[in-house]
Formats: sequence, C-alpha cells, structure tokens
Amino acid sequence: MKSKTNDVVFEWIEKEKQRQSEGLELIPSETYVSEAVLEAAGSVLTNKYSEGYPGKRYYGGNENVDQIENLAIERAKKLFNADHANVQPHSGANANEAVYFAWCKPGDTILAMALPAGGHLTHGSPVTRSAKIYNFVGYGVTEDGDIDYDELERLAKEYQPQLILVGYSAFMKVPDFDRVKKVADEVAKESGHEVLLMADMAHVAGLIAGGVHPNPLDHGFNVMTTTTHKTLRGPRGGLILSKGTVGNPLKKVDKTLENIPTLIDRAVFPGTQGGPLEHIIAAKAVAFGEDLQPEFKDYAAQIIENAKILAEALKAEGFILQGDGTENHLILVNVKDSFGFDGKIYEAALDKIGLTLNANALPTDRGAAFRPSGVRLGTPAMTTRGLGKVEMKQIAKWMRQVADICQKVENTAGLEEYADELAALRAEVRELALKYPVPGAKA
Ligand SMILES: *Cc1c(COP(=O)(O)O)cnc(C)c1O
Repeated sequence: MKSKTNDVVFEWIEKEKQRQSEGLELIPSETYVSEAVLEAAGSVLTNKYSEGYPGKRYYGGNENVDQIENLAIERAKKLFNADHANVQPHSGANANEAVYFAWCKPGDTILAMALPAGGHLTHGSPVTRSAKIYNFVGYGVTEDGDIDYDELERLAKEYQPQLILVGYSAFMKVPDFDRVKKVADEVAKESGHEVLLMADMAHVAGLIAGGVHPNPLDHGFNVMTTTTHKTLRGPRGGLILSKGTVGNPLKKVDKTLENIPTLIDRAVFPGTQGGPLEHIIAAKAVAFGEDLQPEFKDYAAQIIENAKILAEALKAEGFILQGDGTENHLILVNVKDSFGFDGKIYEAALDKIGLTLNANALPTDRGAAFRPSGVRLGTPAMTTRGLGKVEMKQIAKWMRQVADICQKVENTAGLEEYADELAALRAEVRELALKYPVPGAKA
C-alpha cells in the first residue's frame, strides 16, 4: 500500500518492505504479522487516551476501546488458560518490570537464569534499573545445555528468594516446570514466605498457544509474561497472564499470591506506565484471534519441525550446536569451535548475502564477551513465509559457504576481497526469498 503523503519517511518504509522481501529473516525473535494486525496497529485508536482499565477509565469516550481491550483480555486468557490477562505492557521488558514491582520490595531476592547462560537482560543484568532495585541471583546451564536444576535448587535454598523466574532468550530445551515448582514449595515452607513463580515465555509463547510446548500456568506457575511480537505473531508489545482472584485495580489489596492479578494491574498502571496504546491492544486482540484458529497450531508445529531440520542440516554441514540441537524454535551455533572465527564477523558476512541473524554469547563465553563465539537463529519468520524442509537445507548450505569465506579473512573489512562470491550468493538468496512474499509488504 502506497502512502498518500509525500513525506520522505514513507520512502524509507518502502525500502524496508523491499529489504524484508528480498532477504531471509533468521532472527528468532522476529516474524511477520498479518495485514489485519498491521491495519489495527495503524488505526485511529492511536488518537485515544484511556488511562485505567475497561469500565474504570480516567477519560471519557472509551466505549469502543473498552470493548476492544476486553476482547483482547478474553482471548489472551483463553489462549493460555489464565485467570487474568493484562494486555497493556508496552513491551516485554515493561511486563517483567511490572511483575517485579507488583511482588517485590527493594532489596528482595529474585532467582533467574544468568544472562550468559541464556537468560534475558531484564532478568538481572547489572545495566538495568531492576538490578539496582532487587537482588538478582543467577543460575546456569549444564554442559548439555539444560537448566542446571541442582544449582537452581541449591541457590533457592541458600538465598530463599521472593521470586523464582524461568525464562530465556537463548535456550533450546523445554523447561521442567514441575521441578521448579517443587523447589518453590520447599523454599516457601522453609522460609515462611510465599514464593512467586514467574515464567518469561517471550520467545516460546506462540509455541505454548499452538499447543506444542507446555504451559507454565498449567504447572503451578503464578505468572507468565511474554512479548506479543515474537512467536505469537502480534504487534510489538507485552502481555502478563496470571492465576488468582481478579479484583478491582483501583483498590489496594494485600500482597498474597491469590491477589497477584490485582497487584499486577496496579503495578502496570499507575505503577509503571501511563496511558495504554489502544491501537496496539487492538492489534493484540486481532493477533490473539488468529492464534486461536486451528491453523495456528499447524504454524507452531511447523516452526519446531523446521528448526529441527535446520539444526540437523547445520550439523551435517559441520556446525557445532549448543545443546547439540533444539527442542523449540531456537538454534545457537558455536561458530568459534566449528570454524575458528567469532559470531560478529559471521553475522556481518551473512548480512551481505541477505541472511539476517545475530551474534550471541555462548554459556562458555562467561559474561560480556566483546566478540561472542556464537550466532543465534530461529525459524518463526521463515515458517510464516511458508519455507519448509528443502529451503532449510538450502539455508544450511549457504551458511556453510559463507563460513568457508569467513575462514579465509582476518576481519569484516577482509570480506571485501570476496565481494563477488558474496554477491552471487546474495542473488541466490534474493531469488528464493521473492518466491515467498512477506504479508503486508506488497508494493
Ligand atoms: C524479547 C524478550 C524480552 C523483552 O522484550 P521487549 O519487548 O524487547 O522489551 C523479555 N524477555 C525475554 C525472555 C525475551 O526474549
């Protein structure tokens, strides 16, 4: 759709449509939303102020917005078997902050997966605001890439945290939620305080919604946060689901696990945000409606199927994978051990042929690695475009061809010498990509 205005901004948007169409998106936290989601996100709802919650607003004129937000809430609850949904968080990071704020006092302890192990920045990285307020303790992963449950249990008993968090951005296994629930119950008994069990499923929420990944709320977890723009295939934003009694968010309630839905509503607004983005909430409602359709189950299953095929194909091409493969949509490649160069140069070289992914530290990099040893990739975006088995194998082949070039150069500048080879590969990628249109990117 061409814009009706001449602002130069729209020229860049057209260029971005072209970039998305001509390349293959391997970043595991990205996918493509439907035209219906785009339409809702670009609607006149952006004009409306609606601080508060449906039926309890601080502004007039919310009769339509209330219907939309209520529908988003009902659909989200249904998708995740939750008692409550707060659809207002502007992002995944905001959703997490709101949950910490709802449950913890400054100085309280939160046990979460450490960043180098595969956790997320918002789970206690020292550069974040939450890390300055709360006391984060990090657990790690074992050599075969699973959560180190023994360490988690030992740290939980030692620190008696107020909150235990299972969540990650680079972890390829399915967590054992029951085992963590057992640890939380024991800590609660020994410490005499309730322990909030929180799952940050930002990456795998779509797999949960599609029924191909266990739902933490069905395994004794109190709260689940997620982004809505990753595998859920909605607009950029956050979502908080919880179990408990839903109360009036305008009234103060006691800090108990049973009251967590109300505590979360109060922590989102007025605790940490102002007016909700109702155009985005409308787009969330549309996306959740799509996620409830039977076809979404096929999408979720195909994401995992594609990831497994791609992982096997990469191994056959000589790549060493963290955890030796994947149980979800994510793959973490140890490029350093596979071919001797680092993730940054590989990311740059793949960019030149239209394969987009990101350099990522490996658990063995131990902290803030300037040159991470790995790259992270995933299949949600390619699966939305309809790529399957044959294309996954082709991608692995291209990745090996680029690896062969990277082995011959010292640094990113050195890639210039191989510009012709890279351009030839670029043309191959473009040809394949254009066969699978991006929804909403028609010229
Ligand atoms: C992506 C992600 C987030 C943050 O989401 P934003 O919308 O970028 O703030 C939080 N937690 C996890 C586990 C994530 O993967």
